[in-house]
Amino acid sequence: MSPREPKDVSVLIHYDEIGLKGKNRPLFIERLSKRIERAAGLFCEAKVKKRTGRLILETSGLRDPDALIEALGKVFGVAYFARTQRVPLDLEAAADTALDMIAPLKIESFRVRTRKSFPTTPVSTREWDRAIGAAIQARRHLPVDLERPGLTVHVEVIPREAWVYAEKIPGPGGLPVGSLGRVAALLSGGIDSPLAAWRIMKRGCEVVFIHFHGAPYLSRASAEKAKDLAHLLNGYQLGSRLYMVPFGNLQKEIVLATQPEYRVVLYRRFMARIGEHIAGLENARALVSGESLGQVASQTLQNLAAIEEAVRMPILRPLIGMDKDEIIEGAKELGTFDISIEPDQDCCSLFVPKHPAIRSHAGHLRGIESRLPVRDMIAKVIHETEIIDFGADGRTRNFSFAEIHPAEEDAAVLPNA
Ligand code: ATP
Ligand code: MG
Repeated sequence: MSPREPKDVSVLIHYDEIGLKGKNRPLFIERLSKRIERAAGLFCEAKVKKRTGRLILETSGLRDPDALIEALGKVFGVAYFARTQRVPLDLEAAADTALDMIAPLKIESFRVRTRKSFPTTPVSTREWDRAIGAAIQARRHLPVDLERPGLTVHVEVIPREAWVYAEKIPGPGGLPVGSLGRVAALLSGGIDSPLAAWRIMKRGCEVVFIHFHGAPYLSRASAEKAKDLAHLLNGYQLGSRLYMVPFGNLQKEIVLATQPEYRVVLYRRFMARIGEHIAGLENARALVSGESLGQVASQTLQNLAAIEEAVRMPILRPLIGMDKDEIIEGAKELGTFDISIEPDQDCCSLFVPKHPAIRSHAGHLRGIESRLPVRDMIAKVIHETEIIDFGADGRTRNFSFAEIHPAEEDAAVLPNA
């Protein structure tokens, strides 16, 4: 068979955590099914069927099984998956199928694991283990190793059928994207924030990305990085929106009105406010940042509190208790690290001193802000914001702010300004 010919497969998919969600369980399972169909649908026709405690993905027209494996490895909610074949409740059929399935594999030793979902199904799992094992030994002359087998042949018996599979592939775990709503992540070009956004996505949130760049005073290098990072993260949610906020002029206004040591925290308060406004437009219920306690001067307890005071929406900080080494390790595993370390100029480095204040107080900062036209500053920046939409296949389309949010053009509502 040529590699270009379609090889249609069935894939058995197990979920762990979402099995625990009580009354919401059917909803989670439905969402996971849709997510799997969307991911697999990029490569073939894909239909997911629900089968007592597991899902079966049926494909047709599949030309690239490796691409399918990679895609399923990015669907949050999947605990593990395996190429599988259905057999009737018949021992001989199960043994034949197992033999066919392992025929192309190089194996040192093996064992058979039969499980059934319901104790009442008239199948003795022990008998099946032994008989299928004996059939494999007879044909392949392989040793059985119950403790550390080179390969486990799995047979899962559900009421009227059984599913045979051999190679189990781990999924990413977590909860299906969107099952816990939406958040807006402040995505810099740095190492931390992409990992923070990914972690929240893994916990079931669909993420809208917001990047602030220093144009017109700095190059757009950070914006290009944010776009690359959003593209990579989009692989896990298959459809994303990135807001590109031009922040340089607003920063200049802050600079003209304030002492240098408070600038970073003031920038962050404005980022949070703008983020909150965009989040509102996107039905997002929280902001996400990559801050980690004590990592830099702007991330002391006092400064984090002073940033939060500017908004009503919760700011989620999934990396708050992580060391930089741990964050770097996570970013490398995710694949964002190499993008993040490319040189750029983050807008927060614009007009700031070497030693920013480590203890800001919201009251003091409010005093400074009272001398600024906060509302107008924010409105102006938001209307100059550009929007990039990523499709499931990663293709992008650019929009002006007004194209996506026409009603906002004359909106007078800016929260917390
Ligand atoms: P990162 O690697 O995420 O940039 P960092 O250690 O460099 O983190 P800071 O630059 O102090 O930390 O930023 C703290 C957080 O503020 C970031 O994790 C991010 O969520 C947000 N942030 C900072 N700069 C930007 C930006 N230019 N655009 C969007 N969000 C930003
Ligand atoms: Mg940074």
